Amino acid sequence: MEKRLIKKDALTGIIGKIAQEAVVFAPVKVEDNVLFKALEKGEEPFLTYANSKNAPKNHFFPRSEVMLRYTRTAKGVEFAGGQKEAEATVLFGVRPCDARSFVLLDLLFDQEKYKDPYYIDKRQKATIVALACVHPPYATCFCTSVDGHPLSADGADVLLTDLGEEFLAEFVTPKGEKLLKYFGDVKADAAAEAKKEAVAEQAAKEIKSHIPAREVKPIMDANFDSPFWNTIHQKCIACGTCTYLCPTCHCFDITDEMKRDDGRRLRNWDSCMYPMFTKETSGHNPRPTQRERWRQRAMHKFSYYPENFNAIACVGCGRCVMYCPVNLDIRKIVTDISKL
Ligand code: SF4
Ligand code: SF4
Repeated sequence: MEKRLIKKDALTGIIGKIAQEAVVFAPVKVEDNVLFKALEKGEEPFLTYANSKNAPKNHFFPRSEVMLRYTRTAKGVEFAGGQKEAEATVLFGVRPCDARSFVLLDLLFDQEKYKDPYYIDKRQKATIVALACVHPPYATCFCTSVDGHPLSADGADVLLTDLGEEFLAEFVTPKGEKLLKYFGDVKADAAAEAKKEAVAEQAAKEIKSHIPAREVKPIMDANFDSPFWNTIHQKCIACGTCTYLCPTCHCFDITDEMKRDDGRRLRNWDSCMYPMFTKETSGHNPRPTQRERWRQRAMHKFSYYPENFNAIACVGCGRCVMYCPVNLDIRKIVTDISKL
C-alpha cells in the first residue's frame, strides 16, 4: 500500500487540482449547518468539521432521482430517455462511519440477485477520500460498537489521518492510487506509521458511548411481541428525521409524474416511520401504529440486516440521536432490549 505525508496547508490545493478532473463533494459550511455537497466554483471545503448534518450517501442514493422519461404519442407510450450517466466524482473528507455506510449499502444495492443500476453507476465512478476522526467529535458517536473505528478505512479508497504537523495519506485501493499524483512524493516513514497507531488507540478510547449491538439479535427475535415495544415509541412524532439523516437507511418509493404528454418516473426517499409507508390499497396497514414502525426500524438494523448480510445496518454516527426532536435514542433502546 502506498503511503504519503502531506503538509496540512496542502489539502485545499490538492482538492482544487482534483476538481479540475472530477466533481468533488466535500463538507461545506452552509449558514449554521455543515453539509456534504458538490463543491461549486470558489466554494471552500470545511475540513476541520466534526461531521456533516446530511450523510454523504445522498450522492449515491439521492433524495429524489429521475429513473426514466417517456412521452405519450398517438402510437402509444414511447421511452424518452433514462438517467444520464454518472460523472467521475471524488468524495473528499468523508468520516469513517459514513465511508462504512457505503459498504453496507453495497450489500443491498449491488448483490448477486439484485443490482440497482442507478446506485451502482454513481458508486463505481466515485473515489472516497476518508478523513479519520483523530478525536471522535460527539458524545453520541458509537462506531466501535457496530464494527467500526474512528480510523477505519472500510469503504474508503484513501484514508487521511491528521498526525499534527502533517497528514498521513494511505492509498488503500487501486482506485485510490489513481489520486497518488496529487499527493506529492514524500513517502511515509516508520515513525509516521507508529504515530498513526498511537492516534488510533487514543481515538478509540475517546469513544464514550457503547451499546451491545452484536448481542441483541436473538433477544429481539425472541421478543417480537414483547410489551417492551408498547411504550418506547410513544413520544415519536413520525417526522422521519432519523431515517432521512441516517447514512444506512435506504427505503424508497417510486412515482410517475405527467405534464401533458410528458412523463417521468421518480425514485424518492420514503421512511418506515411514516404511517403511509406500509398502507395497502385495501386500506389495511400491517404496521398500524408507531409501535410496529419503531420495532421495524430497530429490528431492520439490528436483526434483519445481520440475518441477510451478516452486518449491522448502523454505523454509529449518532445523527438520529442528535436530531430527533423528541430525544428518542436508539442506543438506549438497543441497550434496554439487551436486558430483556
Ligand atoms: S441508526 Fe442512527 S446512529 Fe445508526 S447509522 Fe443511522 S443515524 Fe447513524
Ligand atoms: S426523529 Fe424521532 S420523532 Fe422523528 S420519526 Fe425518528 S424517532 Fe420519531
